[in-house]
Amino acid sequence: MKTQKSMQLPKSVFTFSFDTELIWGMFRYNPAFQNKLDKDWFKKRRNIQLMLREFNRYDIPATWAIVGHLFLDKCNKKHADIKKGDDWIKQDPGTNLKKAPLWYGKDIIDLILSSKAKHEIASHSFSHIDFDTCSPAVADSELKKCRSLFNKLPCKLTTFIFPRDKYGNFEALRKNNIKIYRKEVKTKRDLLKSRFFKKIVRALDIFCFFKADPLEPIVQNNKLIQMPKSRLIVPINKETTGISSKTLLNIIKYFNLLKIKRTINKAIAKKIPIHLYSHPIDFTSPADLVYLRKILAFVKKKEMQKKLECLTMQQTYEKYLK
Ligand SMILES: [Zn+2]
Ligand SMILES: [Zn+2]
Repeated sequence: MKTQKSMQLPKSVFTFSFDTELIWGMFRYNPAFQNKLDKDWFKKRRNIQLMLREFNRYDIPATWAIVGHLFLDKCNKKHADIKKGDDWIKQDPGTNLKKAPLWYGKDIIDLILSSKAKHEIASHSFSHIDFDTCSPAVADSELKKCRSLFNKLPCKLTTFIFPRDKYGNFEALRKNNIKIYRKEVKTKRDLLKSRFFKKIVRALDIFCFFKADPLEPIVQNNKLIQMPKSRLIVPINKETTGISSKTLLNIIKYFNLLKIKRTINKAIAKKIPIHLYSHPIDFTSPADLVYLRKILAFVKKKEMQKKLECLTMQQTYEKYLK
C-alpha cells in the first residue's frame, strides 16, 4: 500500500542543487554534439570553480549531483562491474582526465570537497541513464557503483537526482540506501510538452514577476523523501535568450530577480522549502556570476534574519526528516 505524508519544517529551507555532468548530459541525446565541441566547452569546469567562490562568499552550501563517471580520473572503457542499459560504452573514450577532460572529473570532486562551504556531493547516476525506462538490474548496478565510489570519499551518499527528471526504479534507490530525491512540482505538463506553449510560458514567466513560483511541501513517499524543486535558474545572457541588447537583458534580469525574491518570501511565509536548481555549465560569464551573487545575497540576508535556513538536501534530511 502506498503511503504519502507531508513533512513539516520549523521554518523554510533554502536549497540549491546542481546537475553536474559535463558531457554526460549531452552526448547520448545528440550524437552530433561531440563534433560541435568548441574550446568554450573545455573551459566549463572553470565555471564550477567560480561558482564555488560565490557560495563561499556567503557561506551557503549546495547539493552537487554528480555523474558517477566524473568521480574518476581515468578508465579503461570496460566498466565490467556495471550492467549497461544502452551502448554508452561505445562513446566512452577510455582514457584519462588530461586527454578527455569532459568525461572525467575527479578534480571537480576535490574542488567541491575542499570548499569552505559544507557542500553535499549527491548522485546523478553513473552514466546519466534514464531511470524510468532502464531495467531494475541496470538501475541497481549504476547505484551500487556510485555507492562504492562514495565509499572512497569522506562523504555519504544520501541524495539522488534523476537524470532528465525521468523518475523510476524507486526500489533500486531504497536498496542502495538513498534517502531523498529531487522531484518536479506538478505543472500542467501536457501543455508544456508543446514547444509552442513552452515558449509562451517562458516569455510570460519573464514578465510575471508579480507572481511567485508554485511551491510544494516535502513529502515522504514509501520510505523515500521527495524534495520538490521550485525554479530552474538559467543565467540570462545572449546564448540563453537570443537577445544581444545589454539593456534589455538587464531589464529581464531585474524582473527575474523580483520573481525569485517573491518566491523566497512565499516559502518563508509558508515554512516550506525553496529549492533552486541549475547546471553549472550554463554559467559562462562574469555577468552570470553577478546574477547568482544577487540571489545568494538575498538568501543570506533572510538567513541572517532567521527567516530561513540554507541547507543541502542531505542536511535537510539529517536535521529534520530522519
Ligand atoms: Zn569510462
Ligand atoms: Zn543531468
